[in-house]
Amino acid sequence: MDYIQLTELYEKLESTSKRLEKTIILAEFLKNCPKKDVDKIMLLVQGIVFPKSDDRKIGVASKLIVKALNIASGITTDDIEKTWKKTGDLGLTSEELIKKKRQHTLFSQDLTVDKVFSNIQKLATIEGLGSTDVKLKTIAELLTSAKPKEAKYITRTVLEDLRVGLGEGTLRDAIAIAYYERHGGKVDLESKDPSFGGGSELVKIRDSIQEAYDVTNDYAIVAQMIIDDDINILQTLELNTQKPVKVMLAQKAKNVSEAFETVGRPAAIEYKYDGFRMLIGKHGDKVTIHTRRLENVSAQFPEVVKLIRENITTESCIIDGEAVGYNPQTKKYVPFQNISQRIKRKYDIEQMAKDVPVELNIFDIIYYDGKSTIKETFSERRKLIEKIIKEKPFHIRLAQQVITDNDNDAEKFYKKSLDAGNEGVMFKNINAPYKPGSRVGTWIKLKPVMETLDVVIVAAEWGEGKRTGWLTSYTVAIYDEDTDNYLEIGKFGTGIKEKKGEEDLNDENIVSFNELTEALKPYIITEKGREVTIKPNIVVELKFEEIQKSPSYSSGYALRFPRLVRIRMDRRPDESSTLNQVEGFYKEQY
Ligand code: ATP
Repeated sequence: MDYIQLTELYEKLESTSKRLEKTIILAEFLKNCPKKDVDKIMLLVQGIVFPKSDDRKIGVASKLIVKALNIASGITTDDIEKTWKKTGDLGLTSEELIKKKRQHTLFSQDLTVDKVFSNIQKLATIEGLGSTDVKLKTIAELLTSAKPKEAKYITRTVLEDLRVGLGEGTLRDAIAIAYYERHGGKVDLESKDPSFGGGSELVKIRDSIQEAYDVTNDYAIVAQMIIDDDINILQTLELNTQKPVKVMLAQKAKNVSEAFETVGRPAAIEYKYDGFRMLIGKHGDKVTIHTRRLENVSAQFPEVVKLIRENITTESCIIDGEAVGYNPQTKKYVPFQNISQRIKRKYDIEQMAKDVPVELNIFDIIYYDGKSTIKETFSERRKLIEKIIKEKPFHIRLAQQVITDNDNDAEKFYKKSLDAGNEGVMFKNINAPYKPGSRVGTWIKLKPVMETLDVVIVAAEWGEGKRTGWLTSYTVAIYDEDTDNYLEIGKFGTGIKEKKGEEDLNDENIVSFNELTEALKPYIITEKGREVTIKPNIVVELKFEEIQKSPSYSSGYALRFPRLVRIRMDRRPDESSTLNQVEGFYKEQY
């Protein structure tokens, strides 16, 4: 397939912000897409060339694109920078400059999806001496052959900054419709019915695709497998102990009786540990640890790897739990921020494991001895973890649990959990399956503290005076699932340490301006005077006094007196609080 066809798809997708229209546009495209291109298209429409669970990154800086544009267009880097300043967007700059150049050179090869895909993939694997030159040539080769529009989207993809507004639900629905139509079905786009007149058959197709995605985290594999085959082939997909899976999430309740109402009686009630979520896969001696961001952190937690090898008695499994940091002297739990430093650590790992050791609290299992256990009841899964884990205090244990149908007992256990230094409790429906990636009513969290929001930083300002060299005054946004977009909701600049002080394991406020600046720097997109825009990547948790309606921010809401609680290194930006949640909080206030 020619790349120009894909750019036309991008343009159509960008021309509407409505989820339904985007679904139809993508479905129509997939319906006619050659099978051999389906997997690449599914990744490229998400602006990626590796599945989300793959740790490889393209890692190309804007400066290299400027140089590649210089080679491809013959325009000086000074002039390129000028146009870039004017447009504020390197994608548009590429389009404009390649347009100018094309008035002079008429000979170039048509780009194919294959060529663009493989060149961009290559960028992630080029390493070592002279790698910058090879990368430069690889990008310049594409831009030299590109038509103006193609140059725009190639640039955005290389910079990992392509947004055509496709949320996960949209991708799933588009694959379902394309599959249905390729297999003789006919949808009625005018139909008011949410399955477009495809009825229960289309709903079943959509559910199978969702289930397969829960297992693989990769729509490219799923779409490619079924597009010209029977949907039942998806049954052959199995979890893999070395690949990440999205974790199950909880809804919240205000009190014990509301929690029972949602999950049913009796319920399993567990300590809600304030730590760091880990999904741990074991296959023989091979142990792989993933965060809820799907990042592989096995190297950062060598002691956990060892613990699992020594204390889990089964050949293969994937278990879910919370690693809680504790002070080795006082044996008291420490705030989450302290162990979250361990996630990005590349050196002194052994020392860090001694300074901030973790205790693993296991609460679930999703794979056991070669088979998924997702569909089994929670009671059955709990029995399995009881069977395979050799408990060792301060190292590995099962989540503390009671099963009760009684409000008084639940209150007592809630209090006991808080007294032990936990965040609250989790209520769990004992008959429910495990739902990867879903926030469903079979898990309910109950905690006393005020609600906070997880927001993503999208802009900031360089500080002045004693804050010179640091980013300050951070603009934050929430996630809009329907359009895969970030909507601004306010600015904050408090709750942050001026200096990185002595490491104090019990200090709640340990994030400094310096730390936040270092975390954000790699994601700076543009700078204008003191103002910088930042690619959505770093998620922070904020306290606030109130949510107000506000025309000043694109979300339509603003936070009053926001204050930093912590950086959430464990969260992906698309896991930030959503517009729906903010609307819910807003209403609850009154
Ligand atoms: P919060 O910000 O309140 O921790 P969250 O948005 O990070 O919540 P939720 O789904 O709302 O995530 O709450 C569930 C989280 O609580 C899990 O992601 C997990 O990290 C943590 N947790 C601690 N103890 C348990 C437990 N026993 N069972 C399940 N999750 C637990």
